[in-house]
Amino acid sequence: MHILSKSTYIKGLQCEKALYMTKKHPYLRDKLSIEQRAKFQRGTDVGILAHQYFPGGVNMTPASPSQFPKKVVETMQNLNNPSINVMYEAVFQHNDTLIMVDLLVRDGEQWRAVEVKSSLRLSPTYYNDAALQYYVLHGCGVPLSDIQLMHVNPDYIRHGEIDVKQLFQLVSVLDYAKEQEPIIASNVERLKNVVALPHAPQVAIGPHCHEPYTCDFLGHCWKNVPKDHSDFTVDYKALFAQAPDPKPRSIGYLNLLHHYPAVPELEGTKPYQEMILAFALTGEQEPDGYTFWNCFDDHSRWQECYAMLEERFTHYDLIVCFDPNNPGLGFKLFNLYDVLQNAHLLHPSLKDGFNLQNIAEALFHGPKLFEHSRILVEALAQELTSYEQSKEDLLTENEVVKRIYQQFFK
Ligand code: SF4
Repeated sequence: MHILSKSTYIKGLQCEKALYMTKKHPYLRDKLSIEQRAKFQRGTDVGILAHQYFPGGVNMTPASPSQFPKKVVETMQNLNNPSINVMYEAVFQHNDTLIMVDLLVRDGEQWRAVEVKSSLRLSPTYYNDAALQYYVLHGCGVPLSDIQLMHVNPDYIRHGEIDVKQLFQLVSVLDYAKEQEPIIASNVERLKNVVALPHAPQVAIGPHCHEPYTCDFLGHCWKNVPKDHSDFTVDYKALFAQAPDPKPRSIGYLNLLHHYPAVPELEGTKPYQEMILAFALTGEQEPDGYTFWNCFDDHSRWQECYAMLEERFTHYDLIVCFDPNNPGLGFKLFNLYDVLQNAHLLHPSLKDGFNLQNIAEALFHGPKLFEHSRILVEALAQELTSYEQSKEDLLTENEVVKRIYQQFFK
């Protein structure tokens, strides 16, 4: 059996303790949040779509981890089978390190390996991924013509059916991977030694717990960090430097549910194009004190939503929101997410995320909030049983946004 895989290798580069815990104490992992699950699902969906770029391949995905050794043997046999020109998830193992190659395509006497990423841009972690793939493929003696990263083309616009040749872009990383081979080899040895340790290595918590990925042992490692609710810190100078000027006379509070589909769903849209599926706006100028709008069941109406927001915005000097996704809605938006991050708001409650719920806990000891992502996931799955409830959720969050704004700026 293998000791390392692509994901445990990348985890080990981030933190040796995280690697050790994953291998030896996986039951201590945090539960996946809905957002993380949605992200994994998006990666899987894009990966499957990418198969169409090289159609007619043999899928080597094992039904269970126990099948990995069998799939390694079959993959090697397929390399010598002239009737097989494309493999999906081909499985290789070298020096106790197992990888699955998203796409392996025959190229004359050689093979081209392609690693699929569902993002618009390539990060250093993706290059590390590809370098590890190259190390294993080279170690297995696979003759490689190229190794490439495939990512989503930010300029693609959907017209009719999805055109996968236009949706994806390919970037060769062969030279980089060759250069990195000795470094990868030494990392693999180091990480194998970590897994063989009798106890978890001592690693202090720090910024690496969130970079490049949020570690799934936060709950375990951070459990002894004291939670003193009176103990938030903020850089007031940086905070007040961002205060709205002039002081607004009328303020609206806005809560949005966005959707950023990696693969454009509608005609004329681009990958990850922002679509607002629902909003709740509260303020003096709203009938009943608020306006709630949604198009959960008909995404094609998303542009109506922008038109309505634009009209409502004319009634206010300032629109306050808390939004990690930076909605592209114009100059009046005062995004507390950016403002509080720029002012370095710190509190133990924020250890597992700079989100509205944790900030509310840091500043006001609560209240308990509903999860935005839950509403969104349900909406996208068309399983939203109660629009009334989602309205309540959005409005509750708006109240918290208002309270935070008033705490610092009134
Ligand atoms: S929470 Fe931090 S210290 Fe603990 S395993 Fe994860 S990255 Fe390492």
